[in-house]
Amino acid sequence: MSEPIRSIEDLNLESITTFIRVDFNVPLKNGEVTDDTRIRAALPTIRYALEQGARVVLASHLGRPKGKVVPELSLEPVAIRLAELLDDGEVRLTDDCIGDGARKVVQDLRDGQVALLENLRFHAAEKDNDFDFARELGGSCSAYVNDAFGAAHRAHASVSALPRLMQERAAGFLMQRELEVLDKLRTDTPRPYIAILGGAKVSDKIGVMEALLGKVDALLVGGAMANTFLAARGLNVGKSLCESDKLALARSLMAAAEESQVDLLLPIDVRVGDSIESGEAHVAGIDAIPADAMALDIGPETERLYRDRLRRAMAVFWNGPMGLFENAAFAEGTLAVARAAADCPGFSVVGGGDSVAAVKQADLANRFDHVSTGGGASLEYLEGRPLPGVEALQP
Ligand code: ADP
Ligand code: MG
Repeated sequence: MSEPIRSIEDLNLESITTFIRVDFNVPLKNGEVTDDTRIRAALPTIRYALEQGARVVLASHLGRPKGKVVPELSLEPVAIRLAELLDDGEVRLTDDCIGDGARKVVQDLRDGQVALLENLRFHAAEKDNDFDFARELGGSCSAYVNDAFGAAHRAHASVSALPRLMQERAAGFLMQRELEVLDKLRTDTPRPYIAILGGAKVSDKIGVMEALLGKVDALLVGGAMANTFLAARGLNVGKSLCESDKLALARSLMAAAEESQVDLLLPIDVRVGDSIESGEAHVAGIDAIPADAMALDIGPETERLYRDRLRRAMAVFWNGPMGLFENAAFAEGTLAVARAAADCPGFSVVGGGDSVAAVKQADLANRFDHVSTGGGASLEYLEGRPLPGVEALQP
């Protein structure tokens, strides 16, 4: 086992120029932030650093500018929103994340002031984990804090190379909380431990599925990925989304579940429609999916079955919607499972971009014990894979 990583509370930050990697990869529309959850999630760490008298340098990526300056992906709207959230404090946005302009802004900071570096991904060197770029990025800083859990699975310069160059490095509060919660799902998890997996593809989730089969008591499967399992059992899934090249994989996962005595539950009924635009859902048994229909949600009997399992769960991890929840006609299964997961007697965690969106859309976020801010990062961590951003913080 590696040594525990340090917390921001272990660093002396007074008058220290402190580089804080945050995840401000937020949705924008017409130059405004449409969902500021990720900015809010970093506030405790930013506020703490400011209270300690740090000179705070924030850095994040936004979107996929592919190593070029894309004006629409400037962090300016984020700087504006952040300033509001910091009680109308000042946030100095640099013109670029490296170079003379940025260096001047950072070196002119006084205790308790905040600078935000422009989008890290305007430079290809960020994704290339380039050490020279990292040196330039953090050159004026004497401490490093990573609070960007959502980027921790990326070996990028601001996440991996830079902390390795800094003596004083630690995790922020959001990063700590994410790791603490996910650790509870990796070892000594209270039982029964139930995982719910859904979403588009089995192939996206093989790693986490295999890892979970070694830990959980039951795995409840929904979403389009369930179709692949149903097809693997020889059932006809009509025009449903189904990975016909993954049937053997689905069979081997079912065999692995049986081997480890994990109940792998599949839908017993589904809601079908003629197309993804269909405004009307019809319930069908899994052995009666019409040849010209698509299974777009789990059915009411399946909801009941899954709800019954969740009623006694002492730990729940949920990733992936149970159906095409973006279409209201096929959102019911996802909502039913979301409510049941949130209301279980144990602790409930939801992760994954679309799953979290579904939970927020239904106003259920505060009923979960933890809503992970990292989709990919949370899955890779549960798989047991080392996260580059966490590795780089190790003492
Ligand atoms: P997450 O982002 O939570 O990890 P995924 O990206 O794996 O989830 O999958 C989410 C997508 O899967 C959603 O866009 C949803 O509409 C789609 N989906 C779920 N079930 C079905 C289905 N039965 N048919 C088609 N699409 C589905
Ligand atoms: Mg997704």
